Amino acid sequence: MIGWPVKHSRSPLIHGHWIEQYQLDAEYRREEIAPEAFGDFISHLSERGYTGANITIPHKEIALAMSEPDDRARAVGAANTLWFEGGRLLSTNTDVEGFTANLDAAVPGWEKRAGEAVVLGAGGSARAIVYGLIERGIGRINVVNRTLERSRALQARFGEVVQPANESALPHLLARAGLLVNTTSLGMTGQPPLTIDLDPMPGHAVVTDLVYVPLETPLLAAARRRGLATADGLGMLLYQAVRGFQLWFGVRPEVTPHLRALIEADLATKTGLMK
Ligand code: NAP
Repeated sequence: MIGWPVKHSRSPLIHGHWIEQYQLDAEYRREEIAPEAFGDFISHLSERGYTGANITIPHKEIALAMSEPDDRARAVGAANTLWFEGGRLLSTNTDVEGFTANLDAAVPGWEKRAGEAVVLGAGGSARAIVYGLIERGIGRINVVNRTLERSRALQARFGEVVQPANESALPHLLARAGLLVNTTSLGMTGQPPLTIDLDPMPGHAVVTDLVYVPLETPLLAAARRRGLATADGLGMLLYQAVRGFQLWFGVRPEVTPHLRALIEADLATKTGLMK
């Protein structure tokens, strides 16, 4: 995991668990690399003994430029997973499948009931979420963001399927939406809460939050109180790790209740915030 900083990452715990489970002679390490040193580090990745890498802030765009991206990484404009194939350095963005696989696991058939979606936020993660929704055939994605220009930039990137909207339009948009996704940092510990009235949403709607500290965000709690189906951010974090592990080690690992419990326990000790 290459980042700057990188010590907050839970990926070593996830991949370390799988390495142990599948008894591989391998190691997953953190590498704290400053932006000015990133190019050199990546150019010598293989000589350093690495079979691939995860990439986090602030290197995802440079990683894209330094590798051969697949459709997902290119569409999202950011690479978070690198691997070698026949001496070539390839890249993808696993947030896309982390998001959709988590929904598949938590609410099978979610895309059939989604119809229109509302996405809150238009930052880096929103690009992966919008692309994932397009991949799964969602026909209209209403993007509500504090800064309207960033929603417009998403429309410019992905086309008319993305409809930028103001917060004042939310009640009306939620009444038509089968899926609500929070991609803002609101609701995260230390950030302002996300307060949205979910009453207008139809009873079949699904609510998902990318924030996973706390695990049960105020948004997810409100959705559960309303009886709506939910999927949490920790699930996305776990599912996004699957593809990288498979690409590096040739084993498709499983997201099990045991792995989830392990990360939940780590979050609880590091934040002291979980119930
Ligand atoms: P980002 O690029 O910095 O975007 C942040 C978004 O939040 C922007 O849309 C921003 O609006 C909005 N925002 C921030 N503060 C706000 C406020 N006070 N009021 C209204 N809107 C506010 O961040 P990101 O990379 O997309 O990540 C967003 C969240 O998703 C983080 O909590 C991150 O941990 C989480 N995440 C989770 C996973 C997972 O696997 N579960 C994966 C990726 C990200 P403006 O455009 O107006 O600034």
